[in-house]
Amino acid sequence: MAENKRDYYEVLGVEKNASADQIKKAYRKAAMKYHPDRNPGDKEAEEKFKEVGEAYEVLSDEEKRQRYDQFGFAGVDPNFGAGGYGGYGGGFGGFGDFGDLGDIFGSFFGGGGGRSSANTANMPRRGENVMSRLELTFEEAAFGCEKEVGAMRIENCASCSGSGSADGVIDTCTTCHGTGQVRTVQNFMGMQMQSTAACPKCGGKGKVIKTPCNTCKGKGKVRRTQKIKVKVPAGVDDGQSVRVRGEGCVGSNGGPNGDLLVEVYIKRHAIFSRRGTEVLCEVPITFSQAALGAQIQVPTLDGKVPYDLPEGTQTGTTFTIYGKGIPEVGNPKRRGNQRFTVVVETPTRLTREQKELLRQLDEGLEETPKRKKFFDVLKDLFD
Ligand SMILES: [Zn+2]
Ligand SMILES: [Zn+2]
Repeated sequence: MAENKRDYYEVLGVEKNASADQIKKAYRKAAMKYHPDRNPGDKEAEEKFKEVGEAYEVLSDEEKRQRYDQFGFAGVDPNFGAGGYGGYGGGFGGFGDFGDLGDIFGSFFGGGGGRSSANTANMPRRGENVMSRLELTFEEAAFGCEKEVGAMRIENCASCSGSGSADGVIDTCTTCHGTGQVRTVQNFMGMQMQSTAACPKCGGKGKVIKTPCNTCKGKGKVRRTQKIKVKVPAGVDDGQSVRVRGEGCVGSNGGPNGDLLVEVYIKRHAIFSRRGTEVLCEVPITFSQAALGAQIQVPTLDGKVPYDLPEGTQTGTTFTIYGKGIPEVGNPKRRGNQRFTVVVETPTRLTREQKELLRQLDEGLEETPKRKKFFDVLKDLFD
């Protein structure tokens, strides 16, 4: 199978120094193009599809890519030693993490879309992500903070340092001689493919533990609830998640840890609400302040700010104080604005004298534009 193979980079149409992201993009594009569902009965497309899958299988895996760069196909071909590229039967089909592509791959490979258990027991695997949730005050979300959250995650067992063995004795499996794999021949798309399957004796681990650790029952891992520090960036909004890298479940076989994802909830504030980076609030004023104009004190996240209301301010008018809103996430020097809406509060407990003054005021007032328009309409409608 090493004959007449095209270079994996050439297959995906990327440069030798392409980033993981470029490789992923190129692969997605090619896989969509050659997918059997889109090219029914087209043998050439089917071959191309397998070719890009194989190329991606290798180039998307940092370790395999390194071996391929150094040794060529020999570095990733199963015929050149265990741990390399596992052939179609076992190695192909690792698309479980692809969300949008998962469905079509699943149907093509007869469901699942994930890897078979062969070859995978010893492969480095990233730990699962862990979710947690954190309630913040309005101010904490606006300006950022450091908090602790509780998170349930899988960790290496402390008693056995993750080995799973009580006495540290771990023997090499005699059935597979430590490779974790046994060879099988499979029929794939009408072709005889030599393939590998997980060793039934050691479950693919290549190792056998004589005395399992009591704490973890030989698994090497335990589930624990931990308090984890979270740095919440300024400007985070309700429902957004903060990622804490490496604080999820522990990885397997030297794979990286998963991440902790902390979903943020913001408590209701007594006077402020927000829309993106804008802070909104209502400020009650008196009829006299609205009519005569006045300097009022507007509450902001930075304390009270004096604001000059113009004469003749209508109730419901919204004013803007620039730069007193919420900082942008990742760019805290840039802040949104604060918008406040004035509401004229009608007095309800007036003395006899105050009422008399208001009556006199009312008699002396000329008709205001809104009332004039309103009564003109009424006249047209009913008179
Ligand atoms: Zn243990
Ligand atoms: Zn074995």
